Amino acid sequence: MHYTPPPRDPKAPPIRINLLSDTQTRPTPGMREAMARAEVGDEQIGDDPTVNALCERVADLLGKEAAVFMPSGTMCNVAATLVHCRPGDEILAHETAHIIAREGGAHAALGGFQIMPLPGADGKFAPETLRRALHPRSRYQPPQAVVSVEQTANIGGGTIWTKADLDEVVEIAKANGLATHMDGARLLNACVATGISAREMAKGWDSAWIDFSKGLGAPIGGVLAGSSAFIDEVWRWKQRLGGSMRQAGICAAACIYALDHNVDRLADDHANARALARGLSQIAGVEVQEPESNLVFFKPDGAGVSADAMVAALRRYDVLLTTMDGRIRACTHLDVTAAMIEETVAAVREIVRGA
Ligand SMILES: *Cc1c(COP(=O)(O)O)cnc(C)c1O
Repeated sequence: MHYTPPPRDPKAPPIRINLLSDTQTRPTPGMREAMARAEVGDEQIGDDPTVNALCERVADLLGKEAAVFMPSGTMCNVAATLVHCRPGDEILAHETAHIIAREGGAHAALGGFQIMPLPGADGKFAPETLRRALHPRSRYQPPQAVVSVEQTANIGGGTIWTKADLDEVVEIAKANGLATHMDGARLLNACVATGISAREMAKGWDSAWIDFSKGLGAPIGGVLAGSSAFIDEVWRWKQRLGGSMRQAGICAAACIYALDHNVDRLADDHANARALARGLSQIAGVEVQEPESNLVFFKPDGAGVSADAMVAALRRYDVLLTTMDGRIRACTHLDVTAAMIEETVAAVREIVRGA
């Protein structure tokens, strides 16, 4: 059976407090205006000036030679491993990584790669864990081709890799002939939270990308960056996967708008996440993971309400969120206000009181 989202009454008003995901953001009037005004061309032949401007901008932001516009973050991950690996190769990643858990098995289905799941707290593995997972080249074991990290680590709780650990992972990978890939779906959240630039964060990583359809608020798109030779190879896979586009400047304009207007304000999302965590942690029996960015994971079980029951009950307060691996995940983003956070905490308190 394939999962199908529950049907929604098309006439129902949008959910008022939508903490499901930062993918739920709607383009603002300013962003829509920028899209409407965009100069466009044929992206597939490199002729769309707005796409080209976006790619140059992201390549510079991440300190790489070149970049390419993709329809989704998933395609950034998939095209990257398709270039870094050959069939039978091994990718090393944290056991909760998006490439393992959320991409429909793409890396195995399309590339014939296997992913070695590395353990570690909060979505991150210790550099030492990587070191221990490496083996000398031999005819028995799969060739180890690339190590991948998520900055921030999504299912880990929106947690942030320290610069020191990132550097150590790069050092270990290079010393062992592995390529390095950074899934930066929420990289700019990590940058805003730490004050470390994206260029510094991505330094030493062979490939890195950022997602525009998450907290940056654009409707579609990710940009993958790396060396010119790497991006050239990525282009072949983009074409093969059906990811080459036409007048994509309409979408790229939204991404440029997001870089101009929606990066610094990620700090507001982080403040809202902290406020939510603070409020929830004051409710007896509710266990909260301290947020580092815009994701808040919590468990209400200690208050006599299961995660599923809490999500269902909150839905009646017009609050939408989801369970993930037995916990509840709340995600703050540009359509979530401080007042909505207060309301959500009050609703959880009331649900716990009634349990
Ligand atoms: C969302 C996400 C992706 C995939 O991005 P899409 O644009 O949804 O395809 C990859 N990695 C992480 C960590 C994500 O959160």
